[in-house]
Amino acid sequence: MVGRCVGAGVLGADVAGLAKRGGCGGVWWERAGGCRWVSGVVAVAFGARAGVLRDPAGMLRTALLMMSGDPRVRRLVSTAPLTRGVVERFVAGEDVTAAVRVAGGLRDAGLRVSLDLLGEDVTDHRLAEESAAAYGGLLRALADAGLTPAAEVSVKLSALGARVDAALARDLAFRVCQAARDAGTCVTVDMEDHTTTDATLAVVADLRREFDETGAVVQAYLRRTEADCRDLAAAGGRVRLCKGAYAEPASAAYVRRAEVNASYARCLAILMAGQGYPMVATHDPVLIELAAGLAGELAAGRLPASAPTVGDRPAERVPTTPQAEAPRAAVPWDAASRGAASRGAASRGAARRPFEYQMLYGVRPGEQRRLAEAGEMVRVYVPCGREWYGYLMRRLAERPANLLFFARALRSTA
Ligand SMILES: Cc1cc2nc3c(=O)[nH]c(=O)nc-3n(C[C@H](O)[C@H](O)[C@H](O)COP(=O)(O)OP(=O)(O)OC[C@H]3O[C@@H](n4cnc5c(N)ncnc54)[C@H](O)[C@@H]3O)c2cc1C
Repeated sequence: MVGRCVGAGVLGADVAGLAKRGGCGGVWWERAGGCRWVSGVVAVAFGARAGVLRDPAGMLRTALLMMSGDPRVRRLVSTAPLTRGVVERFVAGEDVTAAVRVAGGLRDAGLRVSLDLLGEDVTDHRLAEESAAAYGGLLRALADAGLTPAAEVSVKLSALGARVDAALARDLAFRVCQAARDAGTCVTVDMEDHTTTDATLAVVADLRREFDETGAVVQAYLRRTEADCRDLAAAGGRVRLCKGAYAEPASAAYVRRAEVNASYARCLAILMAGQGYPMVATHDPVLIELAAGLAGELAAGRLPASAPTVGDRPAERVPTTPQAEAPRAAVPWDAASRGAASRGAASRGAARRPFEYQMLYGVRPGEQRRLAEAGEMVRVYVPCGREWYGYLMRRLAERPANLLFFARALRSTA
């Protein structure tokens, strides 16, 4: 029975349908939650190795999505000992009490936090309202515990119902920003897939008219992001720069890792040279050093000596922000300019352009503490809530490379 399911998975076909037709139907299928996850896992484990499949990443994505949609698989995965370990490592807990406890511990270690209440892709008005109310409760609890303003919150518009009612999500976002201000802190609006970028940035612009402390997020893997950075750098305000975590088409996003890194470096240089407050969201050691280097060199009025190369092509010059006085910076990325970056990093403590680092809860915790102890501002993004299963699985499915990301994080405490 299982063998036939395995066969269906390895062939990358509609496993559920094939498995039912091929002998996995009936009582076993119903009781065991179908063969979907078994065949998905086996397809991942053996399909690519056997060279049967031409698109292992696509197969992996399909397998993970198959697993993520089934409540019985959810039960199975949720109770597996390894899963609990992964969840405890990356998610603060299931309720506000746990979130506040984790935020307090991080604060005591000299770290700031941004709390994310899990539950994106809300497709129901009532749940969207509940989500906004839950943020209100969390913000009050953070204030009561004396954790604001060191703790802020991150909000996904899809958690506020943006996929079903954009106007409702916008109104609820205003409500959450007001609750944050009442609690003495602020909101950063997470960025989701590229189809939502324009709408999300428009909502952030609206929010900033009343709550100018609201943070925007941009994703370096999107081809449009340099232009967005120029606009945001000119406008000022808090801007989080991350690489991006969704599966995007090549028409919208850089695909090669080197291209994404180079784009990140260019975007970072634009934000650093601009009027706002850059939030450097990455675990990448080269980019971490680059941020410190750029901040130091810009403050000192020095710029990297020469235009470096990115891979096999010259790096583009970073355009100036519209401010006449904004410095024109080349993008340091190759070995020579990494040297320039670390010279800047070595000057930590000297007058420097303000910015902060941001990393995910559970990922490179040693580095988070090391940077904080070195006097850097470090904020940890802390997801919490009961919806962790969908969050974790969708993150993995959206970008299968994240499997390696989580695996590496589990192995390492550095
Ligand atoms: C605070 C924060 C907020 C985010 N918000 C969003 C958002 O709103 N929208 C969105 O799309 N994405 C968001 N992301 C996710 C982000 O887009 C990336 O998917 C994620 O951060 C991984 O990218 P990276 O920059 O760490 O680089 P990666 O390419 O994953 O890693 C780069 C390098 O970092 C090092 N490294 C990474 N992890 C480890 C480890 N555990 N141990 C040792 N070395 C390691 C390795 O040298 C690795 O080669 C956010 C990330 C953070 C940190």
